[in-house]
Amino acid sequence: MNALEHQLQYPFGDTLPPVGTTMEVAPGVRWLRMALPFALDHINLWLLRDHDDRGRDGWAIVDCGITNDATRAAWEQVFANELQGLPVLRVIVTHMHPDHIGLAHWLTERWNARLWISATDWNAARLASQATTGFGGASSAAFMASHGLTDPEAIEKIKGRTNYYASMVPQVPAKFRRLMAGDTLRIGGHDWQLHAGYGHAPEHISLHCPTLRVLISGDMVLPRISTNVSVIDIEPEANPLPLYLSSIERMRALPADTLVLPSHGKPFRGLHERIDQLQAHHDERFADVLAACAKEPQTAASLLPVLFRRPLDLHQTTFAMGESIAHLHALWLGGKLKRRADNDGVFRFVPA
Ligand SMILES: [Zn+2]
Repeated sequence: MNALEHQLQYPFGDTLPPVGTTMEVAPGVRWLRMALPFALDHINLWLLRDHDDRGRDGWAIVDCGITNDATRAAWEQVFANELQGLPVLRVIVTHMHPDHIGLAHWLTERWNARLWISATDWNAARLASQATTGFGGASSAAFMASHGLTDPEAIEKIKGRTNYYASMVPQVPAKFRRLMAGDTLRIGGHDWQLHAGYGHAPEHISLHCPTLRVLISGDMVLPRISTNVSVIDIEPEANPLPLYLSSIERMRALPADTLVLPSHGKPFRGLHERIDQLQAHHDERFADVLAACAKEPQTAASLLPVLFRRPLDLHQTTFAMGESIAHLHALWLGGKLKRRADNDGVFRFVPA
């Protein structure tokens, strides 16, 4: 949690739109929330007033929620009461994670609407919905073990979790329209500029509207929690943290008074302060990791109590392992640590 949250401003205070309803946060921009069955218990989605090239008025949806009956039911309520009788014209997805793309297949079919997403995330989502890549299974369990996760119960559970992604994303639309950094999307009466972000998802897209002074940040900038930046088994030597930090650094070019619409938490102002906070947070973690490694060789697992000073459930442990490896890799590939492969098959990190 963010101890410096008081540096941010929440223009809507503690007001939240109840599930199945929406709340206007800027002209033609409406906020809705869907429940999630995790410790992180909600996701924010957005409706933008839109107008298509056939002259129809309607809505663009940004992000979808996971596939389950409760999320479908909440969407049905929104369709019945919140769309002013207008159709959904397109479904924009910021990135491939289940809470964002889960129901894209149902929404695009129900409205005969196109999915708009980065090509990288569309491909990654298609693959993940058909395999177990990166979200569980034997390869993921072996990768966690090679980074020191020895608890047999946790390893068995990760091994057995072969349907994790597909359970929330059973299908991904077979066709899409490509979103790319630097492109401008005309949505309704406004231009939205697309920003690619790396390190959290393969090619995350945030949307910035200079005239409305609004940034749909997705998961790249969140007010309360830090964005998950993980190394996973399919790219075992990945170095995502520098990618993430340089991506948010580029967002500093946006105006300081931008209203940030994050995927989790509440809309806020204070983008530049939040970027400072996130960069300082990771600098502190880097210092903690270096100090621990200077005392004795460390594994990603042995660093969990250093990086996360709270009890973690299995879902959180797998994310935490990914993050711990990400911090180690930034220091290893940045020349500050050395990686040692020991006889027990576990990677340990020591000062370079
Ligand atoms: Zn995400």
